[in-house]
Amino acid sequence: MQSLHFSHEKLDEIYQSQHQTSNFQLQKNTTASERLQKIKKIERYILNPENQLRLFSAMWSDLRKSESEVLTTEITPVLTAIQHVKQKLSSWMSDKSVGSPLALSGIYSHIRYEPKGHILIIAPWNYPFQLVVNPLIHAIAAGNVILIKPSEIATQTALFLEQMMLDLFDPTEIGLIQGDIPITTALLEKKFNHIFFTGSPAVGKIVMKAAANNLTSVTLELGGKSPAILDETADVSKMGKRLAWAKTVNNGQICIAPDYLLIHRSQKEKFIQVFKDTIHSFFNSDEQGIQKSDYYGRIIDAKNFHRLSRLISESVSQGAKIRFGGEQDEADKFISPTILDELTWDMPIMQEEIFGPILPIITFDSITEVPKLIERLEKPLALYILTKSSKNKSYLLQNTTAGGTVINEFLTTPINPNLPFGGVNNSGIGKSNGFHGFVEFSNERGVMHRKWMNFNIIYPPFRLKWVKMLSKIARW
Ligand code: NAD
Repeated sequence: MQSLHFSHEKLDEIYQSQHQTSNFQLQKNTTASERLQKIKKIERYILNPENQLRLFSAMWSDLRKSESEVLTTEITPVLTAIQHVKQKLSSWMSDKSVGSPLALSGIYSHIRYEPKGHILIIAPWNYPFQLVVNPLIHAIAAGNVILIKPSEIATQTALFLEQMMLDLFDPTEIGLIQGDIPITTALLEKKFNHIFFTGSPAVGKIVMKAAANNLTSVTLELGGKSPAILDETADVSKMGKRLAWAKTVNNGQICIAPDYLLIHRSQKEKFIQVFKDTIHSFFNSDEQGIQKSDYYGRIIDAKNFHRLSRLISESVSQGAKIRFGGEQDEADKFISPTILDELTWDMPIMQEEIFGPILPIITFDSITEVPKLIERLEKPLALYILTKSSKNKSYLLQNTTAGGTVINEFLTTPINPNLPFGGVNNSGIGKSNGFHGFVEFSNERGVMHRKWMNFNIIYPPFRLKWVKMLSKIARW
């Protein structure tokens, strides 16, 4: 029977079964075609209409996500990633020859990609399906034994995933553990070869500390405050519409959502009008109210609802103005798309990651002010530049840093499998997606093979003349 909380005994049982002697070696020995068989099983499962219906229903229940949103933001990204892995895995897995310095003449070198071993994947609730299955595909591609801990907060999706893993895999190769903080804490006390964690920076630190006890490597896909910068040259009608979309997809509960907007003073009023009109056309074209729209999601739980409600009320009590929205219904976990203006940087909303449909806006007069404003906060996961000026674009790229940057569009950073996805320091450590994801789950083993020549020069008794010559050759 399925349960959202596994006992510690069950955790131990699954962990031990995965750590049986020779289990890892079995996975390590798998060929590209055998690994792809597993990935194709996942693909078929996702494409099965009955399974899709169950997933739609789980996600509606967890996040009130519409079918269209589940298809575009949960299922399609996973299918895109699978397609990419299917096309590339054989070449990724093959040994890569590399050159050697002249002083190593006679020695041939290559990189061998071997699986890291036992992987723990810990996922958050906001994309509860995609953020489990995407790393899973890359961990399988690299040939690992995998244990998954989905978010206990997106309960129905967690149960769907548990069933999916039971239907598809032997738990000794790919297992799943359900549970909240105590069970995750117990998991983190166990030894893994790599932990792939997606979640908040605060819990990321807990994971990294626990990993340090075993010198386990980590990938931390974290969050933070991702800025959008709209300059004096930007097309406000287009950019305002795109931003309104990016701030309301999944009800703003996205790690790469534009958290706050830095806007040129001359564009502010027009932007607010475009944002309002867009929200109306997206969610209220029938004049029934945004809350009635099937396309407008909800805050995941009461805890997060209260957190967001507090961010609004604290801002207002400290002098911020609500320029749009602000409606709330606690029983329905509904917060309407909201714009806050006249903020100061010490307000909690300008310190904490928002993770909801609230957009604070701060004006600037010159693009040269922007890097200093962004530097007040930790390095962001994403940074959005909205401009028609190539000079401003280059200036911002050169004078800021971020995990990823998108110009004149939003939310696309994780979708191109040819680009690494991840943050910098507080917004993340390590990268995922495509080859970068494969490498994250692999040990890049350097292999050298002496095929000809002897190293006589370096054996004692030394002849200084020859050693000096070797030292010279090494710099050629
Ligand atoms: P979270 O950090 O609270 O939880 C993530 C996971 O950690 C869950 O599985 C949870 O059970 C576990 N966990 C929570 N507290 C723990 C503790 N004390 N000890 C051990 N494990 C613990 O994050 P969340 O609320 O689920 O998700 C929101 C956060 O995730 C946001 O900060 C968001 O930016 C970030 N996020 C990042 C990405 C990315 O790809 N970079 C994607 C989605 C979400």
